[in-house]
Amino acid sequence: MMAQYLEIKSGYPDALLFYRMGDFYELFFDDAVAASEALDIALTKRGKHLGEDIPMCGVPVHAAENYLLTLIRKGFRVAVGEQMESPEEAKKRGSKSVVRRDVVRLVTPGTLTEESLLDARRHNFLAAFAIVRDQGALAWVDISTGAFHVMPLPPVRLGPELARLGPSELLMPDEIERDYAETVSDFGTALTPMSRGSFDSTGAADRLCRLFRVSSLDAFGTFSRAEISAMGAIVDYLDITQKGKLPLLRKPQREAADRTMQIDAATRRNLELTHSLAGGRAGSLLHAIDRTVTPGGARLLERRLSSPSRDLATIRDRLAAVDFMVDQRQTARDLRDALRRVPDIDRALSRLAIDRAGPRDLAAIRNGLGQAERIAGLLAQTELPALLADASTHLQGHDDLLALLDTALVAEPPLLTRDGGFIAPGHDPDLDEARKLRDEGRGVIAQMQTQYAEQTGISSIKIKHNNVLGYFIEVTATHADKMLSEPLNEVFKHRQTTANQLRFTTPELSEMETRIINAGGRALDIEKRLYDGLKAQILDRASELTDTARALSELDLATALADLSIAENWARPRVDDSRTLRIAGGRHPVVEQSLRKEGAPFIANDADLSGDPSMIWLLTGPNMAGKSTFLRQTALIVLLAQMGSHVPASEAEIGVVSQLFSRVGASDDLARGRSTFMVEMVETAAILNQADDRALVILDEIGRGTATYDGLSIAWATLEHLHEVNRSRALFATHYHEMTALAGKLPGVENATVAVREHDGDVIFLHEVIRGAADRSYGVQVARLAGLPDAVVARAREVLDALEKGDREGGQKPKAIIDDLPLFAAAAPAPETGIETIPPEYAEVATILEATHPDELSPREALDLIYRLKAST
Ligand code: ADP
Repeated sequence: MMAQYLEIKSGYPDALLFYRMGDFYELFFDDAVAASEALDIALTKRGKHLGEDIPMCGVPVHAAENYLLTLIRKGFRVAVGEQMESPEEAKKRGSKSVVRRDVVRLVTPGTLTEESLLDARRHNFLAAFAIVRDQGALAWVDISTGAFHVMPLPPVRLGPELARLGPSELLMPDEIERDYAETVSDFGTALTPMSRGSFDSTGAADRLCRLFRVSSLDAFGTFSRAEISAMGAIVDYLDITQKGKLPLLRKPQREAADRTMQIDAATRRNLELTHSLAGGRAGSLLHAIDRTVTPGGARLLERRLSSPSRDLATIRDRLAAVDFMVDQRQTARDLRDALRRVPDIDRALSRLAIDRAGPRDLAAIRNGLGQAERIAGLLAQTELPALLADASTHLQGHDDLLALLDTALVAEPPLLTRDGGFIAPGHDPDLDEARKLRDEGRGVIAQMQTQYAEQTGISSIKIKHNNVLGYFIEVTATHADKMLSEPLNEVFKHRQTTANQLRFTTPELSEMETRIINAGGRALDIEKRLYDGLKAQILDRASELTDTARALSELDLATALADLSIAENWARPRVDDSRTLRIAGGRHPVVEQSLRKEGAPFIANDADLSGDPSMIWLLTGPNMAGKSTFLRQTALIVLLAQMGSHVPASEAEIGVVSQLFSRVGASDDLARGRSTFMVEMVETAAILNQADDRALVILDEIGRGTATYDGLSIAWATLEHLHEVNRSRALFATHYHEMTALAGKLPGVENATVAVREHDGDVIFLHEVIRGAADRSYGVQVARLAGLPDAVVARAREVLDALEKGDREGGQKPKAIIDDLPLFAAAAPAPETGIETIPPEYAEVATILEATHPDELSPREALDLIYRLKAST
C-alpha cells in the first residue's frame, strides 16, 4: 500500500494527497505534518518507512469538505485520491492485491465548485496571464458559473486588473512567475506556475477548438496570440485539475478595457469598494448597497461595482431599468418576492457539467425555470425599458424541458443520486414496475408469515430481516424439536441458533428476497439512467439556460437597486459626456448607515467640480471635521452613477469619468503597514503620469509623510500639475494652510473648508463643507478631545500662541520664539530659578520643539511627540 501511496504522491509533489482508506482520507509523511497543523487535528503514526515511523493523520470522508476548505484557504492544494474498485474486486485480482486508487481531482483555490466551499454571492475566478512577444493578455473563468473572459493586458496593468477581479488563483508561465510573484501575492491571489507547454499558443488554439467543438477560433472573434495562450492555459489547467471532466464554459468574451472606468488597486482599497480596510466585507460599499435576493444577482452587483461603465448608452440603459422599478413599485415588489425563490441556476449547471451534481441540481433548474415563467408573467403587460425587455425575452422558451423536469422529479429530491427516490412515480413505467415489485415483495413476505404459522402450527413464528442473514424465519427454542424433525425440516432449512431462538429459511423466502433486492437495485439503476438522461437534456440547452440565469440576475439587480434608492432616499443621477461634476446634498452611503445606527444625523454636502470656474477644490479644515468623508463620498457617487445606480444625493450631474484615482497620505494608511513616504510618492507619480481631463482625482493629505517644507512643496507642485497639465477634476484635502494661497493664483482652484464652531475652547464639528479657507486648524482643540493631559494641552496652546504672535509680528524665527518661552511645567509651576539659558538636560527637548509645528500634528502625532519629549528628559 505504501508503494502505491508513494507512486501516486510522486505525481503531485505540490499538493497534499488525500488517500482514501475506507471511511477516511489519510495523509502521510510531510503532508500529514502540514495538514495536522493547519487543521489542528492529531498527528499519529502508521508503520515504518526506511526504518522511520511514518507520520499520519486522517479526516473522515463525510466531513472532508470542511477540512478541504480550511486547507485551500490556508493556501494548500489538495489531490483527492479515491478507491477505484471495491476491496472484493481487488481480491478477485489476487489475494494480496491493493485496492486500485487514483487521483480523481486536484482541488485548488480557483477550481472549486462545491456549494459548501464557495461563497454563493461572490465569483470565484481562476485567471491566467500570458506574454507573447511583449504583448500581454489576461484570461479568467469562473468554473462554478461558466463565465469565460479575456482581454489584452500590458504587464504594467496586471496589478489593477487583479484588484478589479480578485481572482483566487492565477496561472503564469514558470519563466516569468518570479517577476510577478510580489504583485500577485499583494492581492491574496495564489500563484500557480505552469510549464511553457501549457501556454504554447498553437497547442492552446487546438485545445480551445476541441473544447468548443469549432474548427477555428475565428467563430468567437479574433484573438491575439497572447490571448489564446492565456485562454489555452486555463483549459489545460482545468483538464489537469478536473481529470478530464471539463466544466461547462461559455464562449470566451473579450472585455474591452476602454469601456470600463479605470480604477487601480490603491483606489479600490482606499474607497473600500468590496472590502473594508479592516479586511472584511462589512464596512465596504458593496455590503452597504447589496439588497439582491439571488446569488446570481449578488455576483452581478459585485461585477458592476468593480467595473463601472464609461459608455454613456450602457449607463443610461442600466439607469432606465432602475427607474422603471422605482416607478413600478408594486411590480418590483412582486418581482422580488418571486426572485427570492430563484435558485442558483449557474452553479447547478456547472456542477452538472463536471459530474459533481445530484438530484437537487436538477430540481434547482426546474425551480429556476418555473420561477422564470412566473416572472415573465409579471412583466407581460408592461412596456419595459430596453435592458429589461431584453432580459424578459430570455425568461421563457423552456416549456419542454420544464414540463419534463416537472413530471420527472419529486418535489424535494434527496441530496445523492445513489440513494434513489428522486424520480416521481408515473414518469417511467419500468421504474414504477421495479418499485412495485420491491414494495410488493415486502407485502408478500408479510403474507408468508401467516402461511408459515398455519403450516407449522406455531402461531408465534416470525419473519425478520437483518444485514447478515437477510430475511429469515424465527421461532423460539421451545419449538426446536418440531422444526428440526420431519416433515418440517424438509421445508425449513436451519440457519442459526441463538440463546432463545432458532432461525430458518425456505427456498421460497430466499427467492422472494432475491426478487426484492433485484427490484430495488433495478429501480436504482433505472433512476440513475433517467438522471443521466435529464442531465443530458439540460446540458443540451446550457447556453439558453445561462441566458435565463443572466436575465434573472439582471432583474434582481434592477429591483434591488430600486429598493435601495427608495429606502435610502437616493436620486437618479444625470449622466452625460461633458466634464460636469455637480452634486447637491451628497452623502457617504457607508458612513451615513453607520451613523444612523448611533442615531446621529449625516450632514449632506454639495460639490461642484464642473470647471465653471473651478474644477479643483482645495479642502482645508481640522482633523476629524469630515474632509476624508466628503472626498470619498464624491468618488463613490460618481462610481455608483456609472455602474447604473441611483446615488446618495438629492441631485447629481455627472460627466462620465474615465479614470478614478484616490490616494491617502502615508500616515493614514498605517493599517496596511505601508506607511512609507516612498509608497505615497510612487502612487502620486502614477496619478500625475496617467490622469487626463476625464479623470477624477481624490488626494487626501498628500505629502504628510515627510518634513513640513518638503511635504508642502510636493503638495503644492502636485496641485499645480493637476491643474495645468492633467486638467483633471480633483478634490485635494490638505493641512498645509499655506496652500490656500493657490486659489488666488490658479483660476480652476477653489478653497473649501469644513465648518467648525468654537465653544469654550472646544471645537464643535459641523461637518458642513463651505467655500473659503479654514481660518486655523484647531489641532490643539482636537488633541484635547483626544484626551491629551490638560497640562500638555495648556502648554501646546502657550507654544502655539507664541508662534502665532511671532508670525503676526513680522516673521520672528521659531527658534527665537522658543528660546523665549518659559519652560514646560507639568505638575508644579516651574521654580523661579532665574535661569535664562536652557539647562543641558532640556537641550534635546528644545530641539524637538523647535522642529515641531503643532498646526500640522494629528492627535496621534501629538501623542507620539509627548512620548518623545518625555523620553528625552
Ligand atoms: P477628516 O478627514 O477631516 O479628519 P473624517 O472624514 O475622517 O475627517 O471624519 C471624521 C468623522 O466625522 C467620521 O468618522 C464621521 O463619523 C464624522 N463625519 C464626517 N463627515 C460627516 C458628515 N457629513 N455628517 C456627519 N458626520 C460626519
